[in-house]
Amino acid sequence: MEFKYDCSDCSYHTNNQRDWHRHLSTIKHLTVTGFAENNTNKDNKYVCDKCSKEYKSKNGCWYHKKICGTTQDDLSDSDSIKQMLDIVVKNNNRMQHMHNEYMKNMTSLINKVEYSISKNSC
Ligand SMILES: [Zn+2]
Ligand SMILES: [Zn+2]
Repeated sequence: MEFKYDCSDCSYHTNNQRDWHRHLSTIKHLTVTGFAENNTNKDNKYVCDKCSKEYKSKNGCWYHKKICGTTQDDLSDSDSIKQMLDIVVKNNNRMQHMHNEYMKNMTSLINKVEYSISKNSC
């Protein structure tokens, strides 16, 4: 006899769809297929020691750790913060310098205009 639904993992088979769906949610089936909490694959859990994220695959965890590590390192890296501050200060100095030049030009322009006005008025 052929069965409509066949679970080779549990050697369970049925023709009743409801029975089948019920079987899919049984602890036995979940344990066998590795979806249950208390399954035999529990040792295969990989945990990121930085943010305690859990990964089922070693690769996934390893890849996450790489990203997780670099972002945190960058944030706590005092050298890169110093470098960033350096750039900000330098930019600030340049802005200040530009402002000074601008003011100098403006002053000389105003002086010129004032000079020409006073000359014309005479
Ligand atoms: Zn099953
Ligand atoms: Zn992490």
